[in-house]
Amino acid sequence: ASGVELLRDPRYNKGLGFTLAERDHHYLRGLLPPVHFSQELQEERILEDLRSYPDQLQKYVALMELQERNERLFYKVLIDHVEEMLPFVYTPTVGEACQKYGLIYRRPRGLYISLNEKGKILDVLRNWPEHNVHVIVVTDGERILGLGDLGIQGMGIPVGKLALYTALGGLRPSLCLPVVIDVGTNNKDLLNDRFYIGLKRERATGEEYDSLIDEFMSAVKQEYGERVLVQFEDFANQNAFRLLAKYSTTHLVFNDDIQGTAAVVLGGLIAAVNITGTKISDQTYLFAGAGEAGSGIAEIIAMHISKESNVELEEARKKIWMVDSKGLLESSRLGSLQEYKKRYAHEHESCPDFPAAVKQLKPTVLIGTTSKKGMFSKEILEEVASFTERPIVLALSNPTSKSECTAEEALKYTQGRALFASGSPFSPVEMNGKTFTPGQANNAYIFPGMGLGCIIAGAIRVQDEMFLEAARALAHQVSKEDSERGLIYPPFTHIRKISAHIAAAVAAKAYELGLATRIPRPTDLLSYAQSCMYSPLYRMYR
Ligand code: NAP
Ligand code: MN
Repeated sequence: ASGVELLRDPRYNKGLGFTLAERDHHYLRGLLPPVHFSQELQEERILEDLRSYPDQLQKYVALMELQERNERLFYKVLIDHVEEMLPFVYTPTVGEACQKYGLIYRRPRGLYISLNEKGKILDVLRNWPEHNVHVIVVTDGERILGLGDLGIQGMGIPVGKLALYTALGGLRPSLCLPVVIDVGTNNKDLLNDRFYIGLKRERATGEEYDSLIDEFMSAVKQEYGERVLVQFEDFANQNAFRLLAKYSTTHLVFNDDIQGTAAVVLGGLIAAVNITGTKISDQTYLFAGAGEAGSGIAEIIAMHISKESNVELEEARKKIWMVDSKGLLESSRLGSLQEYKKRYAHEHESCPDFPAAVKQLKPTVLIGTTSKKGMFSKEILEEVASFTERPIVLALSNPTSKSECTAEEALKYTQGRALFASGSPFSPVEMNGKTFTPGQANNAYIFPGMGLGCIIAGAIRVQDEMFLEAARALAHQVSKEDSERGLIYPPFTHIRKISAHIAAAVAAKAYELGLATRIPRPTDLLSYAQSCMYSPLYRMYR
């Protein structure tokens, strides 16, 4: 590319960062103001500008425009200021962006595959300018964060998650493809919105839905081969479990809401029991919520216990109790439960709700995935603190307003003894003269490293054991100092290093399981992972 094309292509554009020599070589003289800014100075300018916006959505739009204009500068800002930028590119601001996607729409990003494309999906994939795609994040927009059905406007989620794949996991941007499948929406407000950008019809279900997904999954494999990773994101509960089961034996797929969440939570639990000097299998678990997140977490804990204590998975599951909207899962309910809940319906008398279950089962670990604020009440926290020295309390529901309890409540009602983490961030809490910074069980700890690991190994399937390894690798990144401060997650600022360690652990497992195709196997997977990671620094054009 030369001249003005360089300025217009976000992959190559450096704006004021073009040196004077480059401007001469590439016919750019006069197309830019005469000054040259270093990439660092450009970064500072962007930050100063972003920080001046009072409104979060404006920051989101400004960041997206930067991504469209100068990709390397966008990623440099994101990587160098990850804790500051994450809430804009990702939850919570991305949620608001999705709600207003039609209104703030400027340029298309990613691929839109609607029912209109039925029978032509392979052609649609071929319209995408990159042919070497390695990671696809796909949603059908039916359960966006905790916000429900946003139809095609759910596209903000794949776009945001893939930006994190690059920033946190070091995957080159050109390898990443965001996709939204538009089968309509049941959201009345969107159907009545004249600026809605998707199909104005009710959601397709049954055969019509399944055949579109099936065509997409086949086309993806045909176009990009066996080693393209497909991450399912924010599908509604019933489709999420079904599609994962259906495609996990034929494609390289995982569901982040089920499996990514599970791994990040297990990582935190391992770090927590390391602090207390106990084992995962020593605990009694009680879940509030038995949906996508809850049942994924339960299953990975059971797998871990099964390996740790060398017992059958069925035996391991008995350490875990779950409550859904109708009460404790137990044997008398077996006839009416969804398949994935049956495994946890142990022998027990019926028990109407969560508080009653706490009394009867005396859990040492509480895990909340209900989206119900106040679920972990004062009484419940006090009760748990009465029969265990260091209760582990994970209030995972998002956003902050839905969290089962706050960080402050968890500490206050346990005299500072609780080991706490949440799904959404909480501000630091003062307790007995000490400042405690609550950890966040953020899926972004896991999925970028998971993706990088699959890709460096050339994995052809994702198996649960790879998530177990990812969780262990995450826990391993919690330092002694973090532990002493009661932290069960490592600082997010170390995320690139964390991702590299997770990638190496995942890749090693893929080789062990015979699922890796890259040969010969790199001897040092960690340094290999690090060497593959994308750097946002400008390159010189001669
Ligand atoms: P989901 O599949 O809809 O599951 C919600 C579960 O909560 C269901 O099992 C539901 O019962 C149960 N429930 C609702 N009200 C209840 C009550 N009063 N008592 C007991 N159980 C109740 O949703 P999900 O995908 O699992 O997500 C749930 C929450 O977890 C969301 O807020 C989400 O943001 C959060 N989450 C956090 C992370 C993270 O921290 N990294 C990751 C993923 C999700 P029924 O089954 O009977 O309907
Ligand atoms: Mn999600």
